[in-house]
Amino acid sequence: MRKYIIAGNWKMFTLRDEAAALAHSLVPLVAGIENADVLLCPPFTGLDRMEKVLEGTGIFLGAQNMYHEDEGAYTGEISPAMLKDLGVSHVIVGHSERRQYFNESGSFLNLKVKAAVEAGLIPILCVGETLEERESGATESVIAGQLEDGLEGVEIARGEDLVLAYEPIWAIGTGKTASPEQAQEVHAFIRAKLTQAFGADLAGTIRIQYGGSVKPDNAAELMGQPDIDGALVGGASLNAESFAAIVRSV
Ligand code: PEP
Repeated sequence: MRKYIIAGNWKMFTLRDEAAALAHSLVPLVAGIENADVLLCPPFTGLDRMEKVLEGTGIFLGAQNMYHEDEGAYTGEISPAMLKDLGVSHVIVGHSERRQYFNESGSFLNLKVKAAVEAGLIPILCVGETLEERESGATESVIAGQLEDGLEGVEIARGEDLVLAYEPIWAIGTGKTASPEQAQEVHAFIRAKLTQAFGADLAGTIRIQYGGSVKPDNAAELMGQPDIDGALVGGASLNAESFAAIVRSV
């Protein structure tokens, strides 16, 4: 039985006070939820304050990105050890905005996934197709390629050490959501690829989130699908009531 995992990706929003205030309002609204891990991913600048706000709440702290080296002359980058030092447990890797705007390639993302696992961080590897790719029938081949690149040589001891996020690019921030059937179809495909890569036992315990315009009114139906184990939420996670309603829908 996989426990749901619901993450808020705050992207490049919130100054430190705003991040702390948002987290403060959210904490009581999700208190007592036992069938879902809740994770907040503020910008790097909010992590230090957020670690203190979330202490003792059971809510996990995540980062939106990282570099794969431990330390060195990599101006502007943040290492796995630096994230761990801030109380971070999870890190989003390969969000479509990073693939698209920062040209992060599959092999580069693979280095990040491996470095995260080695450091004891849980990577959330994002995959997803564009509208053009979906309409030309290429969804499965695109997702397969992203999984093969991103997971090449990755070794995990437990399924809980890795999270996947299926985020169709055409559904991110657009208000268009994949239907529960469309999402489930891709999630089942991802589960099959994970089974090939890690074997059925591990693949059965790896959680696969759906992301793309998840809102309080569509969350329950999406997460009611057999292979949808949670949500990666962008826009709606910036409102405490909306995000809490999504968490409570499981
Ligand atoms: C995201 O940022 O990963 C995302 C899915 O955004 P939104 O929920 O706003 O579509």
